[in-house]
Amino acid sequence: MEKHTHDILIIGAGLAGLRAAVAATEISNNLDIAVISKLHPLRSHSVCAQGGTGAVMREKDSFDLHAFDTVKGADYLADQDAVEFFVKNSPKEIVLTEHWGCPWSRTPDGKIDQRPFGGHTFPRACFAADMTGFHEMHALYGKATSYSNVKFYDEWFATSIIVENNTAVGLTAIEMKTGKMQAFQTKAIIMATGGHERIYEFTTFSHTTTGDGMAMAYYAGAPLMDMEFVQFHPTGLVPSGVLITEGARGEGGFLLNSKGERFMKNYAAEKMELAPRDVISRAEQAEILDGRGLEGPYGPYIALDLRHLGEEKINERLPLIRDVAIKLGGVDPVKEYIPIRPAAHYSMGGIRTNMKTETPIKGLYAAGECACISVHGANRLGTNSTAECLVFGAVAGEEAAKHASNSSFHEISQQTVLAEEKRVFDEILGNEGDERSPVIRDEMRRIMNTKVWIFRKGDELENALKEIRQLKQRFKKMKVEDKSRPFNGGLLDALQLGFMLDLAEVTTLSALARTESRGAHSRRDYPKRDDEHWLKHTLAYQTKDDPRLEYIPVTITKWPPAARTY
Ligand SMILES: Cc1cc2nc3c(=O)[nH]c(=O)nc-3n(C[C@H](O)[C@H](O)[C@H](O)COP(=O)(O)OP(=O)(O)OC[C@H]3O[C@@H](n4cnc5c(N)ncnc54)[C@H](O)[C@@H]3O)c2cc1C
Repeated sequence: MEKHTHDILIIGAGLAGLRAAVAATEISNNLDIAVISKLHPLRSHSVCAQGGTGAVMREKDSFDLHAFDTVKGADYLADQDAVEFFVKNSPKEIVLTEHWGCPWSRTPDGKIDQRPFGGHTFPRACFAADMTGFHEMHALYGKATSYSNVKFYDEWFATSIIVENNTAVGLTAIEMKTGKMQAFQTKAIIMATGGHERIYEFTTFSHTTTGDGMAMAYYAGAPLMDMEFVQFHPTGLVPSGVLITEGARGEGGFLLNSKGERFMKNYAAEKMELAPRDVISRAEQAEILDGRGLEGPYGPYIALDLRHLGEEKINERLPLIRDVAIKLGGVDPVKEYIPIRPAAHYSMGGIRTNMKTETPIKGLYAAGECACISVHGANRLGTNSTAECLVFGAVAGEEAAKHASNSSFHEISQQTVLAEEKRVFDEILGNEGDERSPVIRDEMRRIMNTKVWIFRKGDELENALKEIRQLKQRFKKMKVEDKSRPFNGGLLDALQLGFMLDLAEVTTLSALARTESRGAHSRRDYPKRDDEHWLKHTLAYQTKDDPRLEYIPVTITKWPPAARTY
């Protein structure tokens, strides 16, 4: 087996991974840095980010206000020291990406424009029309590829990270073109592998967001934090789930039920359509459950009405949304309302890190959506994710570079690498069982969509956990039909399914244990927030048996928990 050696390995080439690469090389251009990505970098989900990146850019706004909005949005589960650091460093990132070529939309007098977003008390979303992530990614990719000491391994699929004596020493990856597994030796690894939304059926996320990095870190002994908190976005296009940006409501869009009522007046009278996502998704789901959804061929839905904005504004501010609605929804938002319903949209949980993005494993860092620092607590505000990827991607790059500059390589045990080869090629590709991965995958997604969805209940969660564990057993008897090596999509699907089943288990178990309602986690049987018992983070560790849960306190600096109304 071939072995590659690099000072720093970054897994993932989305916003967090690319930002980390740029930051690391700016610490030292003597470092040899590699970015490994199962997709071409510009196919990472970050390219899909639409509405904007949150930052304080005006004198009337303030860091305290952005921090407070974030903490309140998080239903007080965010670590406030991390939030304060985040809001202070976000504006710098807007300016840097501007210098690297991101064409931010402008006000008539030439300033970077900002639009309102849910839960923010000030228009704080810097945007590049409704293709913010696309432009940020192109700017960052251009910057990252300009350094001769950053090497890209595009279309390489990482299968495991190698940890010895609680230190990250390398990883294994399949070169998709040849289907060969190769080993990588390193001094530092940055996980930047994105979220795990694809454990759900109805989601705004790309097919490739399967939580691989979270699972790999979990297997290597790092804890996953707050996995029960999955965000549901209020406006997933029916029937595909493709996102209609919150920017559509930021620009003035209305939500209507079957009676033509702006029902948000009954749920968040002040903020209406610009309440945080958890509040609106629950309101929509409640309207649907109470029989006030509109009837369509794909089940009940809610109407997003942009008609009153007019064609000119829609074309200028929301051109992608118009295009998506016409092509994928069959409706022109200038003349018709858009059929939407809540869709799984963000993993608040992830690999636990401290503010330096360090995990409890030496030399292992995590940033972006796969990480949990925790800035978003129980519910993320729109625009704060791309901002977090930039701010903490930079921190991860800097910290990993400092660590790599002062440490040496460790040998990778041949045995570990051979065992991984055996797992992937003998036990998974070589398996001749009678189960098929798409069948198990669809079953998992159906369970998550029905029993671990917006409203949850103890007995349903227990049921879901039991069924997911049965699927894990069936997974062991699975057969990949195509036995060839080059570009074996069936094998990669199977590997991703293995990761997702474990993440679905942790998500469900963490949700079952948390007997309260907070942010995006809403228990019908425990409808109230319970600060006395549950103002704490969940940690999940892998064991030989079921996952083990532990709890750690939330860091409160300035804002003690208070009632959350909008
Ligand atoms: C439609 C949509 C719109 C959004 N709009 C906004 C917005 O307006 N504002 C906002 O703040 N947030 C938005 N978000 C959320 C935000 O875009 C994401 O949370 C963020 O971009 C995640 O970036 P990331 O770098 O962590 O991961 P990703 O961009 O998801 O990148 C993950 C990377 O990891 C790589 N990878 C994964 N597994 C492996 C493996 N096994 N081996 C090798 N490589 C691997 C992938 O190839 C990829 O390069 C939106 C999300 C969606 C889906």
